[in-house]
Amino acid sequence: MLGQMMDAPLLISELLRHAERYHGDTEIVSRTVEGPIHRYAYRDAARRARQLAQALTRLDVDRNSTVATLAWNGHRHYELYYAISGLGAVCHTVNPRLFADQIRYIVNHGEASVLCFDLSFLPLLEQLAPLLPAVRHFVLLSDRAHLPPDTSLPELLCYEELLAAEDDDYVWPRLDEQTASSLCYTSGTTGAPKGVLYSHRSTVLHALSSSLPDAFGVSADSAILPVVPMFHVNAWGFPYSATLNGAKLVLPGPKLDAASLYELIAGEEVTVAAGVPTVWLALLQHCAQHGLPLNTLEQVIVGGSAVPEAMIEQFARHGAEVRQLWGMTELSPVGTTSSPKFKHRHADDATRRRLQLTQGRPIFGVALRLVDAAGQELPQDGVAFGRLQVQSGWALSRYFRRDDCASHSDDGWFDTGDVATIDADGYMKITDRTKDVIKSGGEWISSIELENILIGHPAVAEAAAIGVAHPKWDERPLMVVVLKPGASASREELLAFYQGKVAKWWTPDDVVIVDELPHTATGKLQKMALRERFSTYRWPEGA
Ligand code: ADP
Repeated sequence: MLGQMMDAPLLISELLRHAERYHGDTEIVSRTVEGPIHRYAYRDAARRARQLAQALTRLDVDRNSTVATLAWNGHRHYELYYAISGLGAVCHTVNPRLFADQIRYIVNHGEASVLCFDLSFLPLLEQLAPLLPAVRHFVLLSDRAHLPPDTSLPELLCYEELLAAEDDDYVWPRLDEQTASSLCYTSGTTGAPKGVLYSHRSTVLHALSSSLPDAFGVSADSAILPVVPMFHVNAWGFPYSATLNGAKLVLPGPKLDAASLYELIAGEEVTVAAGVPTVWLALLQHCAQHGLPLNTLEQVIVGGSAVPEAMIEQFARHGAEVRQLWGMTELSPVGTTSSPKFKHRHADDATRRRLQLTQGRPIFGVALRLVDAAGQELPQDGVAFGRLQVQSGWALSRYFRRDDCASHSDDGWFDTGDVATIDADGYMKITDRTKDVIKSGGEWISSIELENILIGHPAVAEAAAIGVAHPKWDERPLMVVVLKPGASASREELLAFYQGKVAKWWTPDDVVIVDELPHTATGKLQKMALRERFSTYRWPEGA
């Protein structure tokens, strides 16, 4: 027997329709590429998204189209998110930090017919345009005053002019909720970037589940600052979850330096901020240097790479709770968040801190398992570690237009490429990427754990652990370290710092101090480049 309830498809346009009706005057504040702070409310965004949907339709964008964006977090990018997906086309967010050739590959692979971009990316696109044959229209996300008088871009259109020519009579179509809504590519440390094609259903479910109190805890009472870019896994879904809840949205534009972020946090009374650890390290340093408080901040969502303990402590002194998030492009991205349970209410500080240092437990809609090299399932006892696999309504079923990626097990689990433990309460701890784990004498050593310990040393700014070939043990851990400006520390002192913190055989065999570590476009350590650089490294006598 079927239930007898109304059929309401889960559509992205419904998020904005709800915010317009019930949170019409709640603000969206953006720092623009042109300079000034722009303010308006959900009501205005909804109206302009309808105008934009009409304008795009006039550019022949329909349910078979893809529209690409190269843009920072700002109100126009927000409007594009809703207009493109809302009319039934695919919103393809392109990461401008990738190499030009990767951008060329990604835009061509997505087959966008329209490309909308912020002024910052004009020179890049002037260079790339001849190599993007499918793009019929380039749209500058600005007004006429900022349109460059002489550009080699063919028939450059102006966003504000396109909107001004339209009324807002547009009615969002009632799409099948399985319709593709947006497209995002993984940064691809090896090989060509891979696309993940999200649907309306997956996006709305992800927005619902990720805004639960144990996840992002987003509400109409929050002011949210997603520092994570809208070209990086849809800014972890905040443009959707903030809208779903009618939260105030604060968008930082191109200025992601600590002083600019601080100005927004303090000025806009931000309560929830989200981004990768490097952003917060800089902000905390800025606050310490200038004696600045973070009075309004209640929660900092940190993900993308492991959160150092010192960061949790420093934010706690500001009265803000750090919540760790684990996820990936293939998972929309949220899989786990590190929130405590009722039974931890009376736990001591150390226990609660330990929970915060895990990557967290699955939010509703996500299931995790661990398997060994042979694909056999491992116990979730907090000790056994193996390959982490996931199932979820917002995990990909396959990569976009790629048949050559073996990413799923025979029984339908996606292999994340992470190595982890999961304890009996579901708290998952990443010990490594499959390819970064250090294999010593047949056992695995977690590079991430070695890095986190050394980052706790007062002289250390950044640390990377890599496995280097060893005649007896197969591989041994080598630490490559950047010191803080003006700080000094000897190799012996840094190695001694591990005493009592890890098993003796986990202690690295050597530390090398360098000026800089290589990073990917998304700010992650580039371990492969480091391993290459140290491929001729020789262990000191006796190591
Ligand atoms: P994103 O950087 O947006 O999370 P990517 O798809 O670029 O997504 O990278 C996903 C990978 O980042 C994960 O598989 C994992 O290795 C790493 N990662 C994400 N969050 C964390 C975290 N909290 N701690 C450790 N590693 C993380």
